[in-house]
Amino acid sequence: MNKALFLDRDGVMNRMVKYPSGWDSPQQPQDVRLVADIEKVISWANANSVLVIEVSNQPGVAKGKMSQETSDAIEEKIHSFLEEKAAIIDKTYICFHHPEAIVPELKKVCDCRKPKPGLLLQAAAEFKLDLENCVLLGDKGTDIETGKSTDCTTIIYIHTEDTTDKVEAATQAKADYTIKRISEVVPIINNLFRSI
Ligand SMILES: [Mg+2]
Ligand SMILES: [Zn+2]
Repeated sequence: MNKALFLDRDGVMNRMVKYPSGWDSPQQPQDVRLVADIEKVISWANANSVLVIEVSNQPGVAKGKMSQETSDAIEEKIHSFLEEKAAIIDKTYICFHHPEAIVPELKKVCDCRKPKPGLLLQAAAEFKLDLENCVLLGDKGTDIETGKSTDCTTIIYIHTEDTTDKVEAATQAKADYTIKRISEVVPIINNLFRSI
């Protein structure tokens, strides 16, 4: 069975951005900045036969906030910044849906929008993963819910780059591990994956 590290994207791989309207995910490629040390987590996994799988909700296109082209360009920018640091994402699964979408073809109650487990289940099927032996790193309560519902070991990264209600919800999440710096992840996953 393959082993995988699931990574949420916004707030974990790339930093949240403070816009005049408040904190949000990057709305344009030039706003992309990596979270400090995330490349070390990814490189560790790359070097230790652990697949790195991005699992992300991106409802911006559905909500009419950006074009698909812009969304794709932001995603590409994140991956190219990581590649510059020799950190490789093996596979990306994105949910573009939203129940309140204004773009009709993306308006749906889907099975893949976290906290639903669809993205993880797709990855498990494609890569023959035993989800019990996988780890999920996220920064929201909904990420942790997703990981817990599929028996992954969960790590929540608590940062302050988000609306206060979301930060508060994150601190309430009952993750297996709670961290305040991404540099804390490698020792944790080094232990976890060694014992799997
Ligand atoms: Mg996030
Ligand atoms: Zn979806």
